[in-house]
Amino acid sequence: MDMTIDASRVEEILAGAAGASDAELDEILDRAEGFKGLSPRDVAALLTMDSASHMERMFRIAGRIKEEIYGSRIVLFAPLYVSDYCVNKCAYCGYSCNNEFTRRRLTMDEIRGEAEILERMGHKRLAIEAGEDPVNCPIDYILDTIKTLYDMKVGTGEIRRVNINIAATTDENYRKLHDVGIGTYILFQETYHEPTYRRTHKAGPKSNFNYHLTAFDRAMRSGIDDVGAGVLFGLHDWRFEVLGLMLHNRHLDENYGAGFHTISMPRLCKAEGMDMSDYELLSDEDFKRVVATVRIAVPYTGMIISTRESAAMRKELIRLGISQVSGGSSVEVGGYASRIEGGEQFTVADNRPAIDVIRWLMDEQLVPSFCTACYRKGRTGDRFMSLAKSGNIKNVCLPNALMTLCEYMMDYGDDDFRKQAGALIGKNIPKIANEKMRELTTENIKKIKQGERDLFV
Ligand code: SF4
Ligand code: SF4
Repeated sequence: MDMTIDASRVEEILAGAAGASDAELDEILDRAEGFKGLSPRDVAALLTMDSASHMERMFRIAGRIKEEIYGSRIVLFAPLYVSDYCVNKCAYCGYSCNNEFTRRRLTMDEIRGEAEILERMGHKRLAIEAGEDPVNCPIDYILDTIKTLYDMKVGTGEIRRVNINIAATTDENYRKLHDVGIGTYILFQETYHEPTYRRTHKAGPKSNFNYHLTAFDRAMRSGIDDVGAGVLFGLHDWRFEVLGLMLHNRHLDENYGAGFHTISMPRLCKAEGMDMSDYELLSDEDFKRVVATVRIAVPYTGMIISTRESAAMRKELIRLGISQVSGGSSVEVGGYASRIEGGEQFTVADNRPAIDVIRWLMDEQLVPSFCTACYRKGRTGDRFMSLAKSGNIKNVCLPNALMTLCEYMMDYGDDDFRKQAGALIGKNIPKIANEKMRELTTENIKKIKQGERDLFV
């Protein structure tokens, strides 16, 4: 059966869990420390509690789960906006068909141009973004874009994983996307609250709540086993949205053997034609609670934040469980080439170039990673989840992070950068627990310094 959501049931869970006793909260957090995930009711208790000491403990556990499961690596990616044609009317988006501006879709030559710039920044992992318009941006265009990107190589630079964020579509189109080798299929539900969904999506195919909600069922039935979810925090009550995500994750896990590969955590921010007074924005404190709760509820799911968040906020959220960030991002079509004013889908808060984001991560003693190994080794869907749940993912994440950072420093770093990255690599190699893996990584780092590329485990 496809995904459904019963709003009154969600509200019942939230109401039933509100005011959980200290003993109950202790017991939930004790279980969270075992990295086994949490039930929807547990999640509701954490989202509704008002105990400062339990909140502090939850933050500590979230940080430890991230460290234990993924180590200190942070995966980097870049969005690539290829088309801003859109037939939908989403109230929070600058690409809404309500807004008048000259729309465009990149040609394959322009896509190569954007990819070249991204490759020169060192990016290996992209997320393609496009509005929905079957005439101006049909599925064949998206398929050509993916093939073009995988074929692109500039010097030692190449795109190794292409994730796709496009509108809910048919089984047939999902099969085509699967066959062309997409990484993760990303689709934000925006809100799990149907009346809010209807109010904020007034026209176009996306206004069909059920079709949108069941997109991952069609995608997974069609062979796509890595799907990435998200809601736009601020459209409706954040507690409801987190529960919606958890129930959706559980539905996919029970029916297809793997829940979300990633959850993106965007907060509503200002876009063209939007009145912010219509929305209840999520405060920084509540946002931290949301990130920590999701981290401990689904310990094996990657969590992503984008440049919507400021550098200071990103720093705090990484400590609470975020495992992937974008860097040097442009959120407009053709934006890497032009970096022109206007035409953005939303406003970015972190404008730093990719190398500054990487330096900043290293200053924080985090290891920036350009790894794409799991996808290329066939570790997707349930195969990925079983490796993650066995606690062994860290044994490949850290070696791959160190090898890709070494590649990056050799190809794009100046002397200062190489010094800083080299020291970080040296400090982290002894942290690889498995002796054979430690030796292999040391050997591979030497080979990368001598000119070999694309080594991964
Ligand atoms: Fe179009 Fe997506 Fe923006 Fe909605 S959110 S208007 S579907 S680009
Ligand atoms: Fe991601 Fe797998 Fe690489 Fe770890 S090893 S960073 S999970 S692709």
